[in-house]
Amino acid sequence: MKKARITAAICATAMTGALLTSGQFTSTTPAAQAAGAPASPAGLKTDGDSLQRALAAAPEKGLKTPFELSNGATWTSVEQARKFRHQLDASSDRVKVQTVGRSGNKQPIELISVGFPKPKPLAQAKKGSVVLFNCSIHGNEPSGREGCLQMARDMSTTNDPSWKRLLKQSTVLFTNINPDGWKANTRGNADGVDINRDFLALETPEAQTLAKIMGDWKPDVMNDLHEFGPREYYNTQALVLWPRNRNVDSRIHGLSQRMVNAYTGAQIEAGGHAVGIYGELVKDGAPFQQVAGDHQARILRNYTGMRHITGQLTETASRAVPTDDDQSATAVNRRRVTDQYASAMGTMSMMMENRRALANQSAQAAERTTQAGADRSGVIYFSGQDNMLPTDPAGVETHPMCGYQLTAAQLKDTRKTLKLHGITFKKNDAGAYVTLAQPGRSLIPLLFDERADYGITEATPVTQC
Ligand SMILES: [Zn+2]
Repeated sequence: MKKARITAAICATAMTGALLTSGQFTSTTPAAQAAGAPASPAGLKTDGDSLQRALAAAPEKGLKTPFELSNGATWTSVEQARKFRHQLDASSDRVKVQTVGRSGNKQPIELISVGFPKPKPLAQAKKGSVVLFNCSIHGNEPSGREGCLQMARDMSTTNDPSWKRLLKQSTVLFTNINPDGWKANTRGNADGVDINRDFLALETPEAQTLAKIMGDWKPDVMNDLHEFGPREYYNTQALVLWPRNRNVDSRIHGLSQRMVNAYTGAQIEAGGHAVGIYGELVKDGAPFQQVAGDHQARILRNYTGMRHITGQLTETASRAVPTDDDQSATAVNRRRVTDQYASAMGTMSMMMENRRALANQSAQAAERTTQAGADRSGVIYFSGQDNMLPTDPAGVETHPMCGYQLTAAQLKDTRKTLKLHGITFKKNDAGAYVTLAQPGRSLIPLLFDERADYGITEATPVTQC
């Protein structure tokens, strides 16, 4: 069942264009190094290791997940997780759990916020550093949400000074937006919709909730936790990937790659596990085919970048891989959770060491993008990706429009969606005008242009500003 779904997902990924060599990106992974990709700068050492060791040593104070209690034999159910979150909230001043939305089946979507000595309220938190973990958007990929519960608990009890300082400076958010998929053990939500293909249209209540979290809390960093089915040429213990959409601000793209290469990927490797690039098949140490991990802005990994947030995808192998020392089911389950935990520690290390750069680049990317919209400079990509140039001229707009004119009916249909995307408009006699001179400049053509693959409506481009 699972295999068929994954194959279908890969087949659905249309790959058109000129694929560039993978030597473009740096990677510390052995596979990439063997392939001749440059390694991370010599001597680069992050604090991810000490952060992870300190956190894993935090006292549990009797609060353990059913997964931990069973030593990896059973996954925590959606009801058990809710109970765990509320016990955690009650047991620690550092943790607050709030309901931020409802799933299709009206289950609460909860957000855990962690801070020291207590989590900052929203108005204060959004002005500071915020880390967001999206814990298993796909309901049949349990290891991310399992790791999130343990991390929130460990952050609530650690006495480590580095952690206390980090939690004082930053707010850490954990959410699982797909409780219906969790309960039914399905990839999609209750309607069978893949929420991770809904970040442009925002039709599902679950994607709407995450877009709202992003708009409200203004995270600086996001790590999106998934699992994959390993197979021949695609069987490292974990995979990582940054946003590939060519419209993502170059500095945000660079920071995201840096997080993947020097922090999250490196941190999983520090635990002795092999890491690959999501979507890239590797044979004899060299990547030879890309089968997934494309540019689609409707996928959270890309959407996050378009919103000027440094972000990435993490995937752990859901079955035993050849390099697993212990191939027993419980050991593999524990490895899946351990690697999610490690990836998240890489994200926290990235935050600790680059706090100002992350905030500054996020703010400056919004300004740069707004200015590009006002100047009609730069280009807008409807196809291609960071390692693939669009070959069809229709895939690139080299002289961007000033904005798009919506009819009154289009405004009515898209108003709520625009608000969730943080996109503003000006009402006029014909309906509304959406200028590209705003932070959402890169998203707007992907929502409204006739060339966009997943637009929400075809609005009229305005070329006379
Ligand atoms: Zn997934």
